[in-house]
Amino acid sequence: MDKTVLIVEDERAIVEILKFNLKREGYDTLEALDGETGLALAREKDPDLILLDVMLPRMNGFDICSALRRDGRTVPIIMLTAREEETDKVFGLEVGADDYMTKPFSMRELLARVKANIRRRNLDYAAAGTLLTAGSLTVNPASLTVTRNGQAVDLTQKEYDLLLYLLNARGRVFSREELMSKVWNYDYYGDMRTVDVTIRRLREKIEEDPGHPAYIMTRRGAGYYFSE
Ligand code: CA
Repeated sequence: MDKTVLIVEDERAIVEILKFNLKREGYDTLEALDGETGLALAREKDPDLILLDVMLPRMNGFDICSALRRDGRTVPIIMLTAREEETDKVFGLEVGADDYMTKPFSMRELLARVKANIRRRNLDYAAAGTLLTAGSLTVNPASLTVTRNGQAVDLTQKEYDLLLYLLNARGRVFSREELMSKVWNYDYYGDMRTVDVTIRRLREKIEEDPGHPAYIMTRRGAGYYFSE
């Protein structure tokens, strides 16, 4: 079945070129030219990925992203920001986006990121029905769910991928570059802050005390690892 990408963008010319290129790559597309319509379509149609502009009429991209994460939706979201400000980029990640691209973006890079963000990982574990546990955490790769002390934890796709990747190699330290390459599937394009912010968000969701993590550890100057 074709994957569906929802484009939420008020510049019609950008919508058209995204639509054209995504369709050529075999994706179905949905489009919204304002924020409220975008949020409604995301809720109603449950797309496989959302390309989300920041500055939109009626509701901005950050608010849409927050609202979808509050719903518990884990759909990959790539923010499209026209602004160069560092705070804007990181803010998108803080409110639960998986990634961002700054306009004007290269279409080739954007398509690579769409593909990388849509790909569901670790299907072999899913097929085996293996449960992974660590302390009060349980990860069920078959249902893509995580619980802490028996309570469901809502993780975005990338938070989940990152957790599973680290957990599958407990104790092994991964550099940010390695994580970017393996979890995000970006060999050239990634921004390392994406890794740091996703680690922080993941800690806020799974650690009892995110300031003193017990699961996802930092090795100074080297990278991150899951405690043994
Ligand atoms: Ca805009």
